[in-house]
Amino acid sequence: MSGGGWDLEEIRRRADIVDIVSPHVRLRKAGRRLSGLCPFHQERTPSFTVDPEKGLWHCFGCKAGGDLFRFVEMIEKVTFQEAVELLANRLGLPPRTPADAARTRARERFLSLHEQAARFFHGSLKTEPQRAALKYLRRRGVSDDSIDGFLLGYAPDAWDGLLNALSKGGFSGKELSRAGLAVPRDGGGFYDRFRNRVIFPIRDATGGTIAFGGRALADDQQPKYLNSPETPLFRKGQTLWAFDRARRAMADAGRAIVVEGYLDAIACHEAGLPETIATMGTALTGDHVELLRRRTERLVLAFDSDSAGLAAALRGRELFQRAGLDVRVVTMPEGMDPDNVIRDRGREAFLQLVEAAAPMLEWELSRILARAEGEGRREKMEVVRQAVSVLAKVPAGVEREYYVTWLAQKAAGDSPSHLRSMESAVREELSRQTARRGGPTRRTEDTPPGQGPAERQRPARPLAGRVSTSLLAAFLEHGEMAARHVGMLQRGDFPDPHQQDVFDVIAGLVQRNEPVTPKAVLAEVDPEARGLLAQVALEEVPNERVEEFLTSAVRRLVEARLQRRRRQLQEQLAAADSQDSQESIRRELSEVARQRSALAGERIVGKG
Ligand SMILES: [Zn+2]
Repeated sequence: MSGGGWDLEEIRRRADIVDIVSPHVRLRKAGRRLSGLCPFHQERTPSFTVDPEKGLWHCFGCKAGGDLFRFVEMIEKVTFQEAVELLANRLGLPPRTPADAARTRARERFLSLHEQAARFFHGSLKTEPQRAALKYLRRRGVSDDSIDGFLLGYAPDAWDGLLNALSKGGFSGKELSRAGLAVPRDGGGFYDRFRNRVIFPIRDATGGTIAFGGRALADDQQPKYLNSPETPLFRKGQTLWAFDRARRAMADAGRAIVVEGYLDAIACHEAGLPETIATMGTALTGDHVELLRRRTERLVLAFDSDSAGLAAALRGRELFQRAGLDVRVVTMPEGMDPDNVIRDRGREAFLQLVEAAAPMLEWELSRILARAEGEGRREKMEVVRQAVSVLAKVPAGVEREYYVTWLAQKAAGDSPSHLRSMESAVREELSRQTARRGGPTRRTEDTPPGQGPAERQRPARPLAGRVSTSLLAAFLEHGEMAARHVGMLQRGDFPDPHQQDVFDVIAGLVQRNEPVTPKAVLAEVDPEARGLLAQVALEEVPNERVEEFLTSAVRRLVEARLQRRRRQLQEQLAAADSQDSQESIRRELSEVARQRSALAGERIVGKG
């Protein structure tokens, strides 16, 4: 495998897999290995395992696994090349190709430009003589700590405030324009994109500033909110505001609170909810969900009740379901957002709303039922029909069953005598609607599929054979014994193509008289098979009676091969038309029979 000019072996040697993994997984010592909760699937008991000696990791739950490059690929959602580059940069290894170097330089320059711009805006907020921006923030209740912590700023009411400041830092107008902070003038030259606006720096997951959001200060200014345009480093659909500050808190709190505006997020952080992040004018995307899923299992949506973002989230229920996320919705007072509630009614009032957040489906059904309050029976039945149409999109199962009863209870209200008839009415309506929809388990089509990198993460294939896995594991663990056994085996004895790859590499090492070690195999194996290799290498192998185990495992694989061959020959025999071909097939069949009985007599063992 190629590392784009980087020395993969050097990276492997110098990087400690535990250092790479531990920011993402809380690892505990378990023998000579470490284990923790898998960052790639939801689990309560740790099945994610790291072997520091071998430099490998594997999850026994979701079967993901590999070396440090694979881990970085999956956790950072980058390609193999990018993972290599990232690790090399982290280790301070010099880039090997001009293209790598150029990419790294461009990224660093982009971040440094934004860093300087953020400082300029922040400085302007404090020195601006009119102090309108600062007054605005204070009027909105934003504390000085938040102003400094989030590095809030002000873009002066001028055409070249930022351009001038950054030209002193060595950045040209053209560069600012490429970064989306300046706009080309018709007659040549550039002017500032952000003018007379309160500035909210937008950071990536690791805290690097990658864009800005600006809120208009003057009443007649349009648009009210202006963001940096998208660039290769800033994609709204992949960025969540305040994520860099919230990600640790999310793990501690066991949830992420999702709001829609900068000021909502700031108010929540000030109210002691540092696990809050904000979407930036887009619905939650598959990439957002993926980002959150790795840190927490519960999302609490605290959106304004008529927001488009909430409507989109309700439509995208399946996206959350697939990610295994428990999504709750806060019932916000009519026309209020989290910022209003916290500032007007106090922190406690908001905390209560958050704690009372209902599961998404329940929230949606309740909202529909509320429409029938105080209405007559006919209106009530119409509303129940609407609620059932939401239920009809839920796949048949425990959850739907639960909500059938729940809905009937709510709709029947205080009269238990109505409950029975209501429940059968709900069921009848449900089966009518699911029949019309073409089956209860049909997926909703208005759900956006998981986008981008999330989709690259295909599930590892289930292992085709236990024996063959254990056998490869024993070869890796006891390389010195591999030499005596591999000669008996053929590539085709392994049911899985990745196992075949690993076997080929082991056989090659034996043939060249080189030691069989996990490292040596890793260096040669196809990148696609690295996950399997890690799984195999972390398989528990008995340390005693290995020889016995190897012997019997090899015998079972060979026996399976001979049986396959016998079946094949018998089929050929049945189809053979000439005497000659029948004869040669029979000869081969008797040879297979001889090999099988030799195998049964164990004489075959130890010959290789
Ligand atoms: Zn897992």
